[in-house]
Amino acid sequence: MSEDKTIFAMIIDGEIPSERLFEDDHCIVIKDINPQAATHVLIIPKSKDIPRLVDATSEHQALLGHLLLVAGKMAKELGVDEAFRLVINNGADAGQTVFHLHLHILASRHFNENSLGKEFG
Ligand code: AMP
Repeated sequence: MSEDKTIFAMIIDGEIPSERLFEDDHCIVIKDINPQAATHVLIIPKSKDIPRLVDATSEHQALLGHLLLVAGKMAKELGVDEAFRLVINNGADAGQTVFHLHLHILASRHFNENSLGKEFG
């Protein structure tokens, strides 16, 4: 039922074109369409059964670890490994708009030490 598919599921299935910066058996990495920093990419697991981080179970432990390792590898490849933020929005009130787990890498801008919990800007 395609009306239930998230935009990320459609990207993973090739129904919406995307430039994949990285892909392996478990995830894809794409540029965010509405970047909040000069470097803003999304790490998206191919598994479609984790709408939010809190929906992950012990079955997803290896996948979650893999996503973090891919984040570090991508930060190095993008040349931002000295300074980046890794963000997961969990739930609409936390700013989640696509209910398919994803990690944001945000970099190439200045982040204040005390800006966590505030709007970026
Ligand atoms: P979140 O608000 O944490 O759910 O993040 C969803 C992100 O997906 C937002 O930063 C959007 O800009 C981004 N986004 C939505 N549609 C696309 C798309 N087709 N390609 C790339 N990024 C997208």
